Amino acid sequence: MKLGRLAVCASAIACLAFSASAALAADHASHQSATQDHGSAAPEAKGHSHEACELHGGQVAMTKAHHFETVFGEDGIRVYRYSAAQKAELIGGAAGSVTLKFKDGPSRVIPFVSRNAAAEAGDIYFCTMHPDQVKREPGACPLCGMKLVAQSHLYAAVDLRKVEPGTLKASISIKGLGGDEPEAAFTETFQGAAHHGEHH
Ligand SMILES: [Zn+2]
Ligand SMILES: [Zn+2]
Repeated sequence: MKLGRLAVCASAIACLAFSASAALAADHASHQSATQDHGSAAPEAKGHSHEACELHGGQVAMTKAHHFETVFGEDGIRVYRYSAAQKAELIGGAAGSVTLKFKDGPSRVIPFVSRNAAAEAGDIYFCTMHPDQVKREPGACPLCGMKLVAQSHLYAAVDLRKVEPGTLKASISIKGLGGDEPEAAFTETFQGAAHHGEHH
């Protein structure tokens, strides 16, 4: 994915998503102060639901201008990016690392690998012009005919098969996001590893 094309897509998405963003902005303001980080184990009593950015069955965190879905798999951690309005986005030029804090052990920092040309079981495909058009298999956008792209992600390889739920905190920091919030950080608690490619 070339940066020039990404920038064009991003502004088009921002445009198309404008009314949704405006509606969500009020919602965000209210739940931002209450919960900076809301994993799937702690559904919000107030604020909007995060169904639109749980495409991979992961845990959702909201930062100032982004949503991130974190998926703990047996083979590592995957982070998917969404807009403030919960539209699927490509990972683009973003990079970063995850600091793993085990309950009874040392911390470990793992740099993320960017998977822009993802081809994995469980991939989600969407139209960069119409990010509401989401499918579980490759194809064309029903609205504009453009080829759907796999939602790329950041990946950190770590064996989580023997880690007990609740005994690991993953502090994730991501740079190169551009826009209103070029750098974002959030923390998720490990709640058990999913087999990769499994959907809820
Ligand atoms: Zn949110
Ligand atoms: Zn489209």
